[in-house]
Amino acid sequence: MWIVPEKEIAGLMTPEAAFDAVQAVFAAMASGEASNFPVVREAIGHEDALYGFKGGFDRSALNLGLKAGGYWPNNQKRELINHQSTVFLFDADTGRVQAAVGGNLLTALRTAAASAVSIRHLAPEGAKVLGMIGAGHQSAFQMRAAARVGDFERVLGWNPHPEMLSRLADTAAELGLPFEAVELPRLGAEADVIISITSAFEPLLLDGQVKGRTHIAAMGTDTKGKQELDPKLVARSRLFTDEVAQSVSIGEFQHAFTDKSISTDDVTAIGQVIIGQHQGRGDAEVTIFDGTGVGLQDLAVAGAVLELAKQQKKAVEVDI
Ligand code: NAD
Repeated sequence: MWIVPEKEIAGLMTPEAAFDAVQAVFAAMASGEASNFPVVREAIGHEDALYGFKGGFDRSALNLGLKAGGYWPNNQKRELINHQSTVFLFDADTGRVQAAVGGNLLTALRTAAASAVSIRHLAPEGAKVLGMIGAGHQSAFQMRAAARVGDFERVLGWNPHPEMLSRLADTAAELGLPFEAVELPRLGAEADVIISITSAFEPLLLDGQVKGRTHIAAMGTDTKGKQELDPKLVARSRLFTDEVAQSVSIGEFQHAFTDKSISTDDVTAIGQVIIGQHQGRGDAEVTIFDGTGVGLQDLAVAGAVLELAKQQKKAVEVDI
């Protein structure tokens, strides 16, 4: 089997390659070529950690496997990031284990690629202002990936913990974009595209704060109980997601679904837009993409990085 160490991923995987891999797997999901397996996520009763597996199979790319890992909230005191994961790929012809690929940076890249795919397909025409809600580890990846697909002229940012906003300012500076920290009413009124990527458990962005044609990529909610958006905002918007079943159970749309203001018929898998089976934004004022994070995204970027690592002789081969 091959091992692609975490330290090699940064030199191998680009946001462009992640975008292509994630867009392709969303299309494969929509055409029935790829499916995710049920997610396992458990509180293990140690270090307040959440641990689990996300797996699936993409018959078109022959990516079979799973990502194992989770969230260790106390890792910062060990100078480690809170999300820790490894992707395991299996040979779809034989079932033999094919590779173990460091999954930490890949998770950030694939998550950012998902919101970028949604921005490419759903942002209002002429979008110039990017609004960022959240300033944690993922936020910088999100902003960089959005800047690749959108023609943004400036960035507005807000975070529940203002002391973290320097991450957004630094990332905008790296991208050559002016940055301003603002309150949410201004962010909602001025931003054409909004990315939310926090660990919130109650609505941050309220219905009345979002004005005009706007696309929102809601990326933070990946667990039951988490919430970033006002369900009233969800109910009045045109809704898209990576996987419908996940969006109404562990994603942002769980709340509007539970209070019955939306049904699964109101939510479209973004793959349907990518393969031309759904018109996308159309005449909608507000579109929302609920990025819940599916195992197939992890397999797609891990499969792509394994090929690059083999070509560039950065994968280590071991007998198992
Ligand atoms: P982080 O710990 O580095 O940053 C946390 C962010 O959430 C910061 O902006 C912080 O200010 C905010 N926050 C923390 N506690 C909060 C609270 N109680 N209420 C409101 N805001 C709060 O985390 P990160 O790695 O940047 O991840 C951010 C979120 O994205 C997490 O919820 C994580 O689970 C989620 N995530 C989703 C996917 C996906 O595929 N959808 C993938 C990776 C991470």
